[in-house]
Amino acid sequence: MRNNKNIQPRKTLNSIQPYSPGKPIWEVQKELGLERVIKLASNENPLGPSPKAVAAIQASLSELNRYPDADTTAMKQSISAAYGVTPQQVIATNGADELITLVSEAFLEQGDEIIVPSPSFSEYDFGAHIMGASVVPVPFAENFQFDVEAIIAAVTEKTKIIYICTPNNPTGTVISKTDIEKLLNAVSDVLVVIDGAYSHFADAPEYTNGIEFVNAGHPVLVLQTFSKIYGIAGIRVGFGIAPEAIIQSILKVKEPFNVNALAQAAAVAAISDEEHVRASQEANKAGREQLYAAFTDLGLNYIESMANFVLVQIGAEGEEVYKALMANGVIVRYGKTWGLPDYIRVTVGTPEENEFFIKVLTGLLAKQV
Ligand SMILES: *Cc1c(COP(=O)(O)O)cnc(C)c1O
Repeated sequence: MRNNKNIQPRKTLNSIQPYSPGKPIWEVQKELGLERVIKLASNENPLGPSPKAVAAIQASLSELNRYPDADTTAMKQSISAAYGVTPQQVIATNGADELITLVSEAFLEQGDEIIVPSPSFSEYDFGAHIMGASVVPVPFAENFQFDVEAIIAAVTEKTKIIYICTPNNPTGTVISKTDIEKLLNAVSDVLVVIDGAYSHFADAPEYTNGIEFVNAGHPVLVLQTFSKIYGIAGIRVGFGIAPEAIIQSILKVKEPFNVNALAQAAAVAAISDEEHVRASQEANKAGREQLYAAFTDLGLNYIESMANFVLVQIGAEGEEVYKALMANGVIVRYGKTWGLPDYIRVTVGTPEENEFFIKVLTGLLAKQV
């Protein structure tokens, strides 16, 4: 192709870092010739998908010649019933990732700013950068606690969105209800996105999933996903809850058939699958304790987590340990992506997976002395 001045990507694309997903199991198996590979890198549900969702998908297969319901009527009905809001306050999306992109397209102009307590989920930055907006990171306080005063102090005329991921990915820490109130009282003219991707795992008494602030009429968008507790990451479905005016604006940039028919059926079934949710919560709680106990035995510092993963401090050998875990068939996430080269983030797996990870890690650390 000859030099063509008119076929150039928009300048803002230069600031986009490609997303680095956890490596899939098959790839590590193939590359390293390993039989047993476990993936504790993407915060997936180790119990598997909601069985009700799987049945709903199977029952919908024969109607795939039809377009999905563009209004996602059944999905909005079940979500609004479950969360005590109206269907008009709900938007369904192709994973929560799509919602972050849509919010960015709906509300960000070039030169605008978003505030992100950092480190956090990288998709917020992606959404800002595709719109030519910039990211204002606000560091966490000690032990990765939210610093609400610093967040408030970072607000300028250009601030359009503040992202609060709680429990936060990758730290597992939560913001208290009191601090959200403080934030909302201090900044009334900024959209606050409360990302509750891990809300169902949080059991701290000061925790809130943010719905109460939507109901109180604050400019809050609560983001939720079916990828984590419900265990259906592969089908891509998520949703948002916000005051109707905010939902109306986001709907303007949404494609008509963004949520496929199988995903809609699965979501409706999964949200009513209380047994699977409860089992997932209990397994996760026990799994966190299993990991904490092992880290304590190994003398490793970890951050107490309200989510389904734990951030643990390995030390100066962080990268080596991350790579050696991989070579031994354990895929975790290396902290360098978040500017935390001393840390790895490990997803809570089944008891057997956790045990295998602990065994390999213990062996690696013993070798190092
Ligand atoms: C996993 C995750 C999401 C959304 O995931 P989808 O699979 O796109 O629904 C959103 N926010 C955070 C913080 C996550 O970790």
